[in-house]
Amino acid sequence: MATINENYLKLKAGYLFPEIARRVNVFAEANPDEKLIRLGIGDVTEPLPEACRTAMIQAVQEMGDRSTFMGYGPEQGYAWLREKIAAHDFHARGCEIEPGEIFISDGSKCDTGNILDIFGRNNTIAVTDPVYPVYVDTNVMAGHTGPANQAGEYQGLVYLPITAQNNFTAEIPDQKIDLIYLCFPNNPTGAVATKAHLQAWVDYAKTHRSIIFFDAAYEAFITNPELPHSIYEIEGARDCAIEFRSFSKNAGFTGTRCAFTVVPKTLSAKATDGSDVELWKLWNRRQSTKFNGVSYVVQRGAEAVYSPEGQAQVRELVSFYLENANMIREQLTAAGMRVYGGVDAPYVWVQTPNNLSSWEFFDKLLHTCHVVGTPGSGFGAAGEGYFRISAFNSRENVEEAMKRITEKFKV
Ligand SMILES: *Cc1c(COP(=O)(O)O)cnc(C)c1O
Repeated sequence: MATINENYLKLKAGYLFPEIARRVNVFAEANPDEKLIRLGIGDVTEPLPEACRTAMIQAVQEMGDRSTFMGYGPEQGYAWLREKIAAHDFHARGCEIEPGEIFISDGSKCDTGNILDIFGRNNTIAVTDPVYPVYVDTNVMAGHTGPANQAGEYQGLVYLPITAQNNFTAEIPDQKIDLIYLCFPNNPTGAVATKAHLQAWVDYAKTHRSIIFFDAAYEAFITNPELPHSIYEIEGARDCAIEFRSFSKNAGFTGTRCAFTVVPKTLSAKATDGSDVELWKLWNRRQSTKFNGVSYVVQRGAEAVYSPEGQAQVRELVSFYLENANMIREQLTAAGMRVYGGVDAPYVWVQTPNNLSSWEFFDKLLHTCHVVGTPGSGFGAAGEGYFRISAFNSRENVEEAMKRITEKFKV
């Protein structure tokens, strides 16, 4: 008889978004004429840049001609895309990353989960609280945790609280951690990391021979010139960090699918016999075996992000969302709320007014303003008392939502 991976039974059954949907549906059924505005979703709303569409259309035409047709591509991605990434995203910032260290994929969500394939079972793993839930759930699936407690925390994971008290940047732990997930600019808090903060993590990781998983999906939203876009801007990071990047949030590829992961050839970790093994070799082997590359058409679309037109169009898209974020910040502040993030990130992290719980605030906003956001407690216990508002929306919806909140919501 077939048996299952019992680790899946430990997963808290995707509580957050189904519960939001349930409450929204109850409201919508009782109030069928009210127009709801959803500022809860972490998905982009604006269409693909023209440069990307033009490149993809041309690539489709090439696929229709025997002389230019492309079959299987390299599992690691086409060299022309990896070279552009290395030049624009790394060399231009003084980071020594070579094209061969860049692995093109169909998403950072899958890469942040898949990366666990090449690590052992007995690592100590730390995540921030609140956190992007994928990091936690993929560790549960891989059998790296025990069951969850009442607060939803899994036995065996180390949770590093991020709150207003520490500027939403985790304190460097006293204990030894082997694998650390960091996400900057942060989802859900919109917080950023200074070079000094990342340097402290890199120094920690080098001391303990830990590996940092650095999720930079939102790097394009950084406007402050002092802030690092890549962890490889930090001295020593080539010896302790894997970086995840995506075209989802900068170029609107959430539905098109293209991302990349950087595994420096200088990274290694221990085998049980005490030898050091290069992580690049293992990830290359993993990808070559379990992955067959991103479609030629989509990689051409991603390449166009680096053309002069593509760069200008992406900057325009990002600025559009950042203007939304700025409006959200200003209006909520005017309404008497305390807000964080939303400056170098598309998320505004709101401290719930009057000590309301995250869900109480959710219900109040839904019923008085017909605006939907995301309760902070859904991202972890330390998110209680906070609320995430996403700037990924049309200008019209953001303006209308903010108007309703400033007019109707009494703090
Ligand atoms: C959106 C997002 C990603 C990107 O995921 P893709 O699979 O590339 O679309 C990665 N990390 C975080 C934290 C995100 O919010």
